[in-house]
Amino acid sequence: RKAKLKLLASLPSVTADGERLELAANIGSVEDLAKVLENGADGIGLFRTEFLYMGRSSIPTEEEQYQIYKHVLEKLGGKRVVIRTMDIGGDKELPYLELPKESNPFLGLRALRLSLKREDLFRTQLRALLRASTAGKLNIMFPMIAVMSELLEAKRILAEERAKLEAEGIPVSDSIEVGIMIEIPAAALNADYLAREADFFSIGTNDLIQYTMAADRMNESVSYLYQPYHPSILRLVRMVIQAAHKAGKWAGMCGEMAGDLTAIPLLLGMGLDEFSMSAGSVLQARELVGELSKQQWAGLAEEALALGTQEEVKKLVHAALNKD
Ligand code: PEP
Ligand code: MG
Repeated sequence: RKAKLKLLASLPSVTADGERLELAANIGSVEDLAKVLENGADGIGLFRTEFLYMGRSSIPTEEEQYQIYKHVLEKLGGKRVVIRTMDIGGDKELPYLELPKESNPFLGLRALRLSLKREDLFRTQLRALLRASTAGKLNIMFPMIAVMSELLEAKRILAEERAKLEAEGIPVSDSIEVGIMIEIPAAALNADYLAREADFFSIGTNDLIQYTMAADRMNESVSYLYQPYHPSILRLVRMVIQAAHKAGKWAGMCGEMAGDLTAIPLLLGMGLDEFSMSAGSVLQARELVGELSKQQWAGLAEEALALGTQEEVKKLVHAALNKD
């Protein structure tokens, strides 16, 4: 079976009824690239850049970051690479930033909120990204967007850094897509509006589930509320996908759910365009997708969305998977 899966590494991701999808990989460092290439991922759907800032005693310089982003883009040889700006805060603390202690870090100064507060750090990262952009197909993604003004502010700063580089004669790609993570319920509910200013969405289900269920994703005693197939989550996911498509944009997912073999059929049925998962899951996802009809799952996803509990949804999916 392992050998059979291996054969899929060089094949495209296509459903049984001929729909092309993107099965991408999540990375946290350059070391993760080998597995991405070995498993034939269609691209990188999430580069968690905050890891570049962790396990050290100072902020990575623009040059250090530039070299890393350029290397990743080159290695992917023109396949799409979605690089997320730093998601620091929450559970990811950086002692050298000397940030004030918060009583609810997951609801506090995290991700883009911190980037907008510490514009110096943000501008350094954006410059490194813009400089690297000519090395491949770069997409820039902002994490933890709740409201439009955050996206507009981030884009304004990005445009300023681009203008500065161009004035210095440094080339910057003119085909960079700028998108956002949808991982806060308010953003999912307002996705049609956010789609005006975002080139793409990537749904971060790890946080979207945490915030929708009001259940800390690190807290074992409430882990039963981590319910990716719950109709409340599925309805938010569908809302985001539909909003993207209505605006002519694409929608992906980079939370754990994107690589989950029970969730994939439903996500396919709801029209998700890109699934980004750990590199080790890409081949089994490609195998599964090859056995599924998007059209059939569109109907089954509709049925699932009308149910009331995660258990019922699971039952529906498993019954349909075993039937054919
Ligand atoms: C998510 O929230 O689903 C996500 C992909 O981001 P992270 O796990 O890094 O918070
Ligand atoms: Mg997240």
